[in-house]
Amino acid sequence: MSTTTTEAPGRWVGQWLELYHEVIDSGLCTGCAGCVIACPHDVIGYEHEEKQYRPFHLEEELGPTDCIHGQKGCTSCTRACPRYRAWETQADEHLFGRTREPDEMYGIHRQLLLCRAADDHIHDVGQDGGFVGAMLLWLLEHDYIDAALTSFLDGDPNEQASSWKARPGIARTRDDIVASAGSRYTYSANTLAMKEAMDEGIGRLALVGMSCQSSVPPIMWARMAGKIARPFLFNIGLLCSKTFDDAIFAELFEAKYGLKREDMVKMNIKGVFQIWMRDGSYHEVDLKECHAWTREGCKSCPDFAAEHADISTGGIGEDNAWTLCVVRTAIGEEVMNRMIADGTVIARPAETDEKAMKLLRMLSVVSRRRWPKTADEAPSIGVPPPKKKAAAPAP
Ligand SMILES: Cc1cc2nc3c(=O)[nH]c(=O)nc-3n(C[C@H](O)[C@H](O)[C@H](O)COP(=O)(O)OP(=O)(O)OC[C@H]3O[C@@H](n4cnc5c(N)ncnc54)[C@H](O)[C@@H]3O)c2cc1C
Ligand code: SF4
Ligand code: SF4
Repeated sequence: MSTTTTEAPGRWVGQWLELYHEVIDSGLCTGCAGCVIACPHDVIGYEHEEKQYRPFHLEEELGPTDCIHGQKGCTSCTRACPRYRAWETQADEHLFGRTREPDEMYGIHRQLLLCRAADDHIHDVGQDGGFVGAMLLWLLEHDYIDAALTSFLDGDPNEQASSWKARPGIARTRDDIVASAGSRYTYSANTLAMKEAMDEGIGRLALVGMSCQSSVPPIMWARMAGKIARPFLFNIGLLCSKTFDDAIFAELFEAKYGLKREDMVKMNIKGVFQIWMRDGSYHEVDLKECHAWTREGCKSCPDFAAEHADISTGGIGEDNAWTLCVVRTAIGEEVMNRMIADGTVIARPAETDEKAMKLLRMLSVVSRRRWPKTADEAPSIGVPPPKKKAAAPAP
């Protein structure tokens, strides 16, 4: 089914029935949970567990594929879904007043910088340059936000042993920001913490999330999803090629390499899966071996570069101590300039790191190639076909 519809928000009609068939059943669903938090009737469930990370319908009247509220005119779930129909063009138009040019593989942007937190502790606990932690702290201290939706690990943060089970949560203080820092490569639908934030009456939020999640607020604004979209004031994206199912810990790392998750202290992906253990040892696992545990929701995802965030952040610079920052929106640029001016972050132009620039484009192309031809064509526009392998010389 080819879907290139660009309905005007005023005539928006899609409900769970369409969402189910066009996004969930067709394999486009990332598990971002935008639909879950947008549903005003609380009839969309979500299991944040191994081999799940998908929305499902809770009411029995019309079965799992249709919704009684949708039949009566509710359209909130499709208004919130950043994989439904013309999501890329709608979010682009809303944020930038234009759609990306065909060769803008990693989306529309204003600045490309390599940044590191000036605060040594924030830098040290960060995955790369600690930029995300520094920005959250700056936003809190300058009274721009009350809290941020981020990701934590199950268990006591003061205990060394970790479950490595990522959970969405709310960072309200410096201690929370420190506890939530670093990257986990399993899924955490940080948007899900929105319900708790609303229950607490928190009105000004930053969202930290992978590319799929960072398209949620802009698509909600573009499609007028209502009050659920209002608290999102800052949108910090994490560059992302894929996440792995939680089963990778037991079924690969422990079963094949004897690496127990409770003994792991840090992980990273730099061409290989890197794992640091509590006993000081360091291990590398070939990414090809990890592919079998790629989370279902990532397999068709076309967005590596978090193209709808205010600032997208990644670790593909040649120096691990810096965060690559793709500054996209006016508000993102304003905050970035102020953080540089007051010394919160140290920044240098990213264009000087040619390898990082090439990787950013190449990984964005690779992700866009995953987007199915049967879906809205926008994410595939301008994407070069894979180079043909040279033919073997004739014997
Ligand atoms: C699943 C995943 C895949 C990524 N893939 C790439 C990649 O392929 N290439 C690349 O260049 N960069 C990738 N990144 C981004 C990179 O790992 C860093 O998050 C980024 O460079 C910011 O670093 P920092 O030191 O500034 O962030 P920090 O200051 O360490 O802050 C990191 C923030 O990310 C949040 N977070 C951590 N894990 C998760 C999670 N699983 N889900 C949601 N939020 C989370 C934390 O709560 C924290 O708010 C990925 C990140 C994640 C989480
Ligand atoms: S992509 Fe996100 S919003 Fe769309 S159906 Fe899946 S979980 Fe819901
Ligand atoms: S690849 Fe990353 S951004 Fe895309 S769906 Fe998976 S987690 Fe989300």
